[in-house]
Amino acid sequence: MNPVTTIPPVPAGVEAFDARGVLRSALEALGRDRLALSASFGPEDIVLIDLLVELEPRPRVFTLDTGRLPQETYDLMEAVRGRFGIEVEVFVPDAAAVEAMVRAKGPNLFYDSIENRLECCDVRKVAPLRRALATVDGWITGLRRDQTPTRAATPKIGPDLEHGMIWKVAPLADWTEAQVWAHIRERDLPYNALHDRGYPSIGCAPCTRAVAAGDDPRSGRWWWESGDSRECGIHVASAGVLHRPTGEGTR
Ligand code: SF4
Repeated sequence: MNPVTTIPPVPAGVEAFDARGVLRSALEALGRDRLALSASFGPEDIVLIDLLVELEPRPRVFTLDTGRLPQETYDLMEAVRGRFGIEVEVFVPDAAAVEAMVRAKGPNLFYDSIENRLECCDVRKVAPLRRALATVDGWITGLRRDQTPTRAATPKIGPDLEHGMIWKVAPLADWTEAQVWAHIRERDLPYNALHDRGYPSIGCAPCTRAVAAGDDPRSGRWWWESGDSRECGIHVASAGVLHRPTGEGTR
């Protein structure tokens, strides 16, 4: 199928569709080859893969391998490949860009400033994401509205103008975390072993730590920064006004 030059209109009434209905609508509108699930192998992504293979046995699933992921995430990637029999399209950072960044600023530059952290996320995540999204007319994400205030208005299907004229599809937008885990338990799906060790939200190893029970699930991500800077640029058009971290706890 050739790339479409304009995205189809968002299906009427999509907000009333359940997750399977959202996925079905997106597949019917864009086709298997031009719709891909962006998986960081969080629990939402596992649920989405499980739902997607019911509708399309060979779904496109891609991931961004930053080179700094925990071993447990690679183990899960293998478990997913085995369980579902799917290929995972792995996008890696540009080697020359990583080499230049690390040579100039060191391997742990992200702890030194928000600017450095965003530079690292840009090289290792955002640029590979742009390459991945250049191959689709729509991408599926595991965003849920109750994850962060910035995600509270996430539509189930909406235009993603940041990445060109493509669809951003969030079938689990109105799911709760409890619903996600109930589906995983019910279907005995694989999940990241770090979740059982106090890591509710998992990204790169040096930028993720365990949180105490009851704490904000995302407080273990870039924990040395102030709360309003904790996005990597993948799901925000702009990182907005970022505050430099205080000296305390920057390591
Ligand atoms: S999460 Fe940390 S290691 Fe991963 S890309 Fe961002 S700054 Fe770099």
